[in-house]
Amino acid sequence: MRLVVGAPLRLFNTLGRDLQEFTPLEPGRVRAYTCGPTVYAYQHIGNLRAYVFADTLRRVLEWKGYEVVHVLNITDVGHLTSDMDEGEDKLELASQREDRSVWEIAAHYTDVFLRDLEKLRMRPPTLWPQATDHVEEMIAFARVLEEKGYAYELEAGLYFDTAKVPDYGKLALLDLEGLQEGARVAPMPGKRNPTDFALWRASPKDAVRLMEWDSPWGKGAPGWHLECSAMSMKYLGERFDVHTGGVDHIPIHHTNEIAQSEAYLGGPWVPFWLHNEFINLRQAKMSKSKGGTLLLSDLERQGFHPLAYRFFLLGSHYRNQTEFTWRGLEGARVAERRLLERLRERVSGREPLTYEDAAKRLGGPGRRYLERLDEVISTDLNTAQALAVLTQVSRDPEVGAEDLANLAAAFEAVLAVGLLDLVPDDIEPPARELLLAPDDVDQLLSEREEARRRGDFATADEIRDMLERLGVEVRDTPEGTVWKVRPAVAARAAGEDEA
Ligand SMILES: [Zn+2]
Repeated sequence: MRLVVGAPLRLFNTLGRDLQEFTPLEPGRVRAYTCGPTVYAYQHIGNLRAYVFADTLRRVLEWKGYEVVHVLNITDVGHLTSDMDEGEDKLELASQREDRSVWEIAAHYTDVFLRDLEKLRMRPPTLWPQATDHVEEMIAFARVLEEKGYAYELEAGLYFDTAKVPDYGKLALLDLEGLQEGARVAPMPGKRNPTDFALWRASPKDAVRLMEWDSPWGKGAPGWHLECSAMSMKYLGERFDVHTGGVDHIPIHHTNEIAQSEAYLGGPWVPFWLHNEFINLRQAKMSKSKGGTLLLSDLERQGFHPLAYRFFLLGSHYRNQTEFTWRGLEGARVAERRLLERLRERVSGREPLTYEDAAKRLGGPGRRYLERLDEVISTDLNTAQALAVLTQVSRDPEVGAEDLANLAAAFEAVLAVGLLDLVPDDIEPPARELLLAPDDVDQLLSEREEARRRGDFATADEIRDMLERLGVEVRDTPEGTVWKVRPAVAARAAGEDEA
């Protein structure tokens, strides 16, 4: 057993809705599960918050001396267009849309997802199980539920009877009576309760599914919730410490995972449920990619380093809904660049330090800052405050060069924003590289024009600001909008070419 150090870790548990002291079931070792993506489309930058958040949790645990086993699943079957059992399988739909096989779809989007996580410096999870590799386990799980009397069979498949679970909906604090009255969707014939959900979806008699398996309930495919219960228990043991995901999972997906898992075990399952809030992209969608939303690669094309986005994310608490704006991202980049300028040279070649290792090297004001970091990060992972403390550290004349370097190494272990290996120009490249291709400028101008026509001047202004940051000056004239490259930028670019 390893030594766990620092302040007690307190985390906001959705189960109970309060800040609770976290202690793992097994001393010194934490087993954690994160609900991963459904790989039928690109994950936009808002989706990526869930993984940076899970990574922060893991980093903090490891920093404090825990060993962490982290499982993140890849959903490549079973997630329907609605989280309830309505609609079609997202993978099958994407396959028709893109005219590629479901397997190609899953492989492509999984690949991009993994690359994005790497760019954001997420520590690779211990395991990445894929749903389609675990259908056998899911069938075995559903059979146990059926044997215990929790399931019933309909023509549409095998359903979980939520009325058999007295505390069904405890995670979401569901108002079941309101739900029954308010259920608008036409119920599945034979479904006993509106909240009942499919464990197994039988293939329609007259159609062939793109992905289907044999089962005791006929040919079909597993329900979405089943995979997380079956795979988490397989790799982490029947009971493990913490389960994470986005807040959108609370009312249905996680509620149903809990119901079926506690029915399966005959007792409580996972004690800690942590959920991150959304990143709101409403204001910043002008630079759309094909999927109609913002991807990490879109930020990169606008000249932003992926870690500037990580820095932006860590700048607000994971439980706060946060608006993404280009201005906000720019602010994060400027702040990070200043930090890197102050840390430069002192830190190059260092490795991240755990709390324990940093504590051995620090005394006086340096030690006090280390404890301050531990205190804010142990209070529900307050990364925003950790960044604020880091800024203080970097400006404090009483912190000597060696202490500053050790502190940077400790902060980096928790935050992973590139403090030890990036130079300021990595985070904010010289303007020449930011210059957009003329086609991109035209594209942005036409999006701006469209925004103005709609009367959406906030977006129009934001596009103009973005162009300006990128060195393009925009002027509205009676004859229309004209643009030119700002002279200073042109000169700097030319100067660098000569150098
Ligand atoms: Zn899940």
